Amino acid sequence: SDSVVSAVARALEHADSVRRLEVRANADTPQDAARARRFGAQGIGLCRTEHMFLGERRPLVERMILARTDADRAHALDALLAPQRDDFTAVLEAMDGLPVTIRLLDPPLHEFLPDRTHEVNPMLGLRGVRLGLVVPGLVAMQVRAVAEAVVARTRAGGDPRAEIMVPLVSTVEELRLTREEVERVLAEVTEETGVDIHCPVGTMIELPRAALTAARIATEAEFFSFGTNDLTQTTWGFSRDDVEAEFFSAYLDKGVLAASPFETLDREGVGRLVRIAVDEGRAARPGLRTGVCGEHGGDPESIRFFHAAGLDYVSCSPYRVPVARLEAGRAAL
Ligand code: PEP
Ligand code: MG
Repeated sequence: SDSVVSAVARALEHADSVRRLEVRANADTPQDAARARRFGAQGIGLCRTEHMFLGERRPLVERMILARTDADRAHALDALLAPQRDDFTAVLEAMDGLPVTIRLLDPPLHEFLPDRTHEVNPMLGLRGVRLGLVVPGLVAMQVRAVAEAVVARTRAGGDPRAEIMVPLVSTVEELRLTREEVERVLAEVTEETGVDIHCPVGTMIELPRAALTAARIATEAEFFSFGTNDLTQTTWGFSRDDVEAEFFSAYLDKGVLAASPFETLDREGVGRLVRIAVDEGRAARPGLRTGVCGEHGGDPESIRFFHAAGLDYVSCSPYRVPVARLEAGRAAL
């Protein structure tokens, strides 16, 4: 009824006036971005790029990864550039004036090349930053697509605020090398177009080693975003794809686990890694921005923890944005 709707609107307004946590959304299509905006998202905290490479672009991805010659790979990357630029242009338009954190490709290979990968543990394999470092031209293609989208939106009179995020980092060296490539391409496109492209570069923190070496990693990162899905998986050694496993439900039945750590943040273990990374990252780099973009970003109990740990933002599914706003407000009170 109208009175319920206006009561909710008042509660949200009140929550927004007191909360300290910013609330962003995870979105990778213009439709989701627009929906998130209607729900009050203050930007996109995670724009995954994996789905953009499925469907009709999938054969090109296979060619890019498995190419026998540099020329063959370059051809596949060339064909991917324009559609990727259009993807980003559309998302930046839907989020005009608000930050959009674009994550470099992080495809577990069993999802992309089910018949071609020889990895026994693809979730611990050639993913994320590792793929970017071994497939020549992949990072450059994606960064060029981001940069050209920023140029297109700027020329159209928009206010594009793209950020680039590197997934699955475990050592500062991975980030340093990737970042050099990112800066090189941004400078190249700036030079070609005359449009000054400013794109903060940050990293996901989703492996225990990254959290434990946060002070070093912060020297190369303008922001940290906790990928608590992978961080939970790798801290516990539980497969995030096998939560139906027999032992998992038995653990819940027997009370070994009070709740699934994939749903409610495990404060003692994963939460401790988050605190270490926030505190040590900020000590090494004052003003370092920190957020969370795993599923926990939309879970009320976890949001209270992130507030207490001093994070700057949570990012969650568009439909959870209103709940996250309310919960962030309650946490602040
Ligand atoms: C995460 O690991 O928490 C995350 C947000 O990345 P993805 O779920 O895409 O692995
Ligand atoms: Mg992840």
